[in-house]
Amino acid sequence: MNERVALVTGAARGIGRAIAVALAKEKWRVVINYRANEDAAKEALKLVEEVGGKGIPIQADIADSADRARLVAQTLETFARIDLLVNNAAMGPRRRVDLLEMTESSYDEVMATNLKGPLFLTQLVVRRMIELKIEKARIINIGSISAYTSSTSRGEYCLSKAGMGMMTALFAHRLAECGINVYELRPGFIRTDMTSPVWDKYERMIADGLTPIARWGEPEEVARAVVAIAQDCFPLSTGEVINVDSGFHLRRL
Ligand code: NAP
Repeated sequence: MNERVALVTGAARGIGRAIAVALAKEKWRVVINYRANEDAAKEALKLVEEVGGKGIPIQADIADSADRARLVAQTLETFARIDLLVNNAAMGPRRRVDLLEMTESSYDEVMATNLKGPLFLTQLVVRRMIELKIEKARIINIGSISAYTSSTSRGEYCLSKAGMGMMTALFAHRLAECGINVYELRPGFIRTDMTSPVWDKYERMIADGLTPIARWGEPEEVARAVVAIAQDCFPLSTGEVINVDSGFHLRRL
């Protein structure tokens, strides 16, 4: 068993679950963090164990400061180390409304979950990585094409992902001297619960040429990029943004 440990936030479902399973296949021990869906977390753990991996589900709301501290403490009590943090958990606004109708409470909730939570969780985790002298520790932020793509019906989500872009740059800059590389993956159109309300709409847009690679992405395809970073395939890169988006980011004529 590889002794390396990955803490994956929001790993009960969707992309986070695929990341946990893919890392487990490579013999990483994984912390499956989730907020509310315990059944999904148990299912994720079962999949991790089916591929011969070892994991532990930990309930914690990453938007909550005390929960973040407990998440890190429980992880260290269980595995005694953290080599990789994957900031994956995020949410869209509970209701998509026009920018001119966006509420402060929705803004606060989305920003606390998608930006403030990952920022302060990363701070907590890297302090411990440094104390524990973890070699080749790594941070991966799951961003989004929404970092630079305006959707006026979910402005708070776009703002949170744009902020995450700077968060990646800041930590990459600060942590280089500590030997901790920081990466951001930017998925595009991945078939998960998060995108389920717009599956039909995006299906039509993809058929009409939205992306050069004319198909949906699968969670496992994002997970493969995480595994490549976890396996240290990019040791001389930090602050790097890897688009996992069917080529959506390309400007085209
Ligand atoms: P998803 O299917 O909605 O799953 C989200 C996961 O995050 C769930 O396991 C959920 O936990 C967890 N979560 C949400 N809020 C949390 C909180 N406050 N604390 C702890 N866990 C929390 O989402 P997804 O599509 O897999 O998205 C994963 C990441 O990829 C997100 O960062 C998202 O922004 C990004 N992304 C996705 C797409 C896409 O096309 N799907 C595109 C671009 C970027 P529970 O199960 O307990 O609710």
